[in-house]
Amino acid sequence: MFCGLFAYIKGSFMSFDFQGLYGFHGHRCPMSTMGARLGIGAMRALGVTKAEQFYIEAVCFAKNCALDGIQYTTGCTLGNGNLSYEDAGRAELVVRTRDGRRSVTVTASTVALERLSGHKRLKAELMQEREVSGLARAADIDRRIAEEFDRLVQWVQDAPEEEVLTITREGR
Ligand SMILES: [Zn+2]
Repeated sequence: MFCGLFAYIKGSFMSFDFQGLYGFHGHRCPMSTMGARLGIGAMRALGVTKAEQFYIEAVCFAKNCALDGIQYTTGCTLGNGNLSYEDAGRAELVVRTRDGRRSVTVTASTVALERLSGHKRLKAELMQEREVSGLARAADIDRRIAEEFDRLVQWVQDAPEEEVLTITREGR
């Protein structure tokens, strides 16, 4: 049963259409991917699907690419009025049932935040190095930046939920 549950979680997650998200969002990036992980994690923890979007409401505590991942996965959107946001700079999503009985708070884990900020730091260092390097070296640095970016996005896509998210449930 435990194995079955794991297979189900893994299976349902692996089948998530990240390409569809990037088509909607307009580009492939770590924060839209993180937004999708927050949305998927919150919906699963609350036991609801996108079809039940009018039964829930969501608040996102960032105003960045994560908003699109959240809208794409939860069906709570600025357009349909089930989503609001605060520009607080936190990778955090609260989804609650409209009857107020249950809510779930999902944040990027400490590990995820460290990876995201580590990537930002490394990119800044590489860009600085690029400034003072010759053309041939600049091409190498560009390749390295692209590889690091890919690695980060891939990790946010694939990392197990307990590694990438912190989930807190309230109510029952
Ligand atoms: Zn983006």
